[in-house]
Amino acid sequence: MGPEYMRTFIANMPKAELHLHIEGTLSPETILRLAQRNGVDFPYRSVEEIRQALAARPAGLEGFLDHHYLRIPLLQTERDFFDMTFDLLRSCKENNIVYTELFFDPQVHTSRGISFGDVIEGIDRGRRSGAEAFGVEANLIMCINRDRSVGSAFEMLDQARPHRRRIIGLGMDSYEEGHPPRKFEEVYSQAREEGYRLTAHCDVDQTDSVSHIWECLDLLNVERIDHGVNTIDDPDLVEEVKRRKIPLTTCPIWRSSDPAPQDTDRIKSLFDHGVLVTLNSDDPAEFDSGYLTNLIAGVQQASDYSKGDLVRLARNTFEASWLPLEAKNAYIEDLHAYAEANGVETT
Ligand SMILES: [Zn+2]
Repeated sequence: MGPEYMRTFIANMPKAELHLHIEGTLSPETILRLAQRNGVDFPYRSVEEIRQALAARPAGLEGFLDHHYLRIPLLQTERDFFDMTFDLLRSCKENNIVYTELFFDPQVHTSRGISFGDVIEGIDRGRRSGAEAFGVEANLIMCINRDRSVGSAFEMLDQARPHRRRIIGLGMDSYEEGHPPRKFEEVYSQAREEGYRLTAHCDVDQTDSVSHIWECLDLLNVERIDHGVNTIDDPDLVEEVKRRKIPLTTCPIWRSSDPAPQDTDRIKSLFDHGVLVTLNSDDPAEFDSGYLTNLIAGVQQASDYSKGDLVRLARNTFEASWLPLEAKNAYIEDLHAYAEANGVETT
């Protein structure tokens, strides 16, 4: 099967995505439009300048985040949040993503004086309008910025309470160094009592990545780990993640300056060990890997996944979702029908 055949197979396969930051989906064109609309002095003035700045970022989480946060002040009004979400669901449709769970970062907005209500109203309205327009179902996960205080995270939970039913889960992201999961044990405990589903980022190759994953399991009681690739470094952790059926939402993205998908060998190894691995695009507008079809096509080439493997990876993502069982099974049935129509046996 040539690369073009596999790309088409991937493109047409019904997919889900569980690790997608809504603030990481602003295209260079949208950035320039928002800068103009809101009178924000963005440091780069053209699509080309934005692309060059993305290419020049230092590798790794911090280089990414320093650049990512530059675009946050562009988002000012409820309409901006609506447009961003609606546009994202259009991109999901183009990638045959039928279901997604989206991260958003309330604290980066509320700390600038934007109300939690405006943020959630815009995103939730975009989610509902996008579902109607494109047939893409989405749920929302709000993330703690782990580099902020515990008090600020509790404040976010308070602000979210009137909107509780619009938000399916709680996650945690941003600068990981010096901010271990245990810092937020009480916040997670409170969120669990309020009925949130729980996940947390354990980014790749951070100081103490392995112990951070253990803390997420044992102290935060998360149901998923975002990234979590370093699980492979500890055989006991591999066994524990399998025993508890904890999905890993890995993001083998790539950059123009380093155009090979990241971490593919470790991800393949986790997959071969039977861990519930999923493939995700993270911040598709900020990496050359882009949206999910392109990302999976690159990873397929790098790791030589068969069509059967790709169906298993897609199935893992539906399994790992927080949909009710019936809805989950309906999506998996559609996936299996697609697989069988393309000569892949499913069990
Ligand atoms: Zn992420």
